[in-house]
Amino acid sequence: MRDNIVAGNWKMNNDYSQTKKLINDLKSSKIPEDVRIMVAPSFTQLSQCKNLLNSTNISVVAQNMNANNSGAFTGEISASMLKGIEVNIVIIGHSERRSIFNETDEILKEKVKSALSADMEVIFCFGEELKERKNNDYFKIVNNQLRNVLFDLPESCWKNIILAYEPVWAIGTGETATANQAQEMHLYVRNLIRDNYSEATSENISILYGGSVKPSNAKEIFLGKDVDGGLIGGASLNANDFIEIFSAF
Ligand code: PEP
Repeated sequence: MRDNIVAGNWKMNNDYSQTKKLINDLKSSKIPEDVRIMVAPSFTQLSQCKNLLNSTNISVVAQNMNANNSGAFTGEISASMLKGIEVNIVIIGHSERRSIFNETDEILKEKVKSALSADMEVIFCFGEELKERKNNDYFKIVNNQLRNVLFDLPESCWKNIILAYEPVWAIGTGETATANQAQEMHLYVRNLIRDNYSEATSENISILYGGSVKPSNAKEIFLGKDVDGGLIGGASLNANDFIEIFSAF
């Protein structure tokens, strides 16, 4: 059985006091038992979030990491550093990392391998750009992104992978994929995993949708048979909106 997951990606938002307020507001809400709730603050707020969320079932996620274990990589953070503060989940391959920080499939592959060998869970993001959607290239693009980074991994690794389909044209734009577009891609991805691995692995993997999910569209998107939750950007910065979204299952 796969998990339903709603994860909030705060990006480069929320200082110390904003983090404290947002987490305390989330803590005072009714947390559903059948959904894994996650928040991904900036590196500087990871420890505060861990402390505030201690004894709740909301998980803390890192937004990025470096593939190396240690060394002369100024400004970078390794898997073992995250594990050292009990952060066991990391987002890899977000479209902003790909487009702004030039992270290629080769770099992402190394990061994924490093995270998995540290026994972390990986939320791996992928998705096509607008021109690729318009040219009807989106299945091919997604196929390549998954193949280049993930499909060499042994099947045993897949229990620690969560996928997030994030069409780039829907991220932070207010434009959302329709529920049908999301379900169509999620089914395609699940079938790809079945064909490359097995029916069991494809059925157990959680595939999240990300791209302008908000309280008004969450329920419809989450109804998709192969949509197992969402990766939420902007709307996760507002406690009421995020609560409404994770309560939409
Ligand atoms: C994201 O950045 O992963 C995201 C989905 O952002 P938004 O919800 O703001 O589109």
